[in-house]
Amino acid sequence: MTLRIERIPTLKDNYTYLLVCEESGEAAVVDAPEAEPVVRRVEALGARVVKLLSTHHHPDHSMANPELAKRWGVPVLGHVSDRARLPGFSDGLEEGDRVELGSHTARVLFIPAHTRGHIAYVFDRARAVFCGDTLFAGGCGRLFEGTPEMMFDAMAKLGALPGDTRVFCGHEYTESNLRFAAHVEPENAAVREALERARARRAKAAADWHDATPDEMTVPTTIADEHATNPFMRAKTAAELGARRAAKDRF
Ligand SMILES: [Zn+2]
Repeated sequence: MTLRIERIPTLKDNYTYLLVCEESGEAAVVDAPEAEPVVRRVEALGARVVKLLSTHHHPDHSMANPELAKRWGVPVLGHVSDRARLPGFSDGLEEGDRVELGSHTARVLFIPAHTRGHIAYVFDRARAVFCGDTLFAGGCGRLFEGTPEMMFDAMAKLGALPGDTRVFCGHEYTESNLRFAAHVEPENAAVREALERARARRAKAAADWHDATPDEMTVPTTIADEHATNPFMRAKTAAELGARRAAKDRF
């Protein structure tokens, strides 16, 4: 009943995820900007990819969709509103839709803010959420197409997941996010401890992110960790979130 989750480092600091249902052997790829490292990992595991899942349309998360879809003859899933701009788009999803992967099921959360078609995939039984560039470890995505109110709602929706849900986000931004978190809440001991842990891991970083090993990765965290440390999830109002987002843009 295990959902195996492989973290594949792509581009400069992106995370691509390979999910394998160990019962059925069915696999899915979340957010693929480049094909080669993904194909290599899929072949090393002998996984059988049956679908590509996109959180949003930005090229650094989706550029390899068409090539991978063609290689494996599989659909590309994304929010229905991104039909015209998500590379390789084939199947539209909306809030509450379910995505099957072998014996596992993901629920779709619609969380527009970073982009207006952003979604997350929640695997309840495996206690894992794939949230792209909306919620990061210690931070949140930039508001390219949404408002602070929309990001506040997205934080509330993700924050309502069980505390032990693992957060698989779209980039390795944790150390810089937590430096900002420590600036916002200098008295928050949980932030200080998380920053120390992130620094220790990032000190082992390979010169090329493509060569990164799990030792240097700070992702996943958990929803409980984010409640304790993330200044955007901890914002009490949309206005407070908006002020923090604007300050982070200049930090
Ligand atoms: Zn993005």
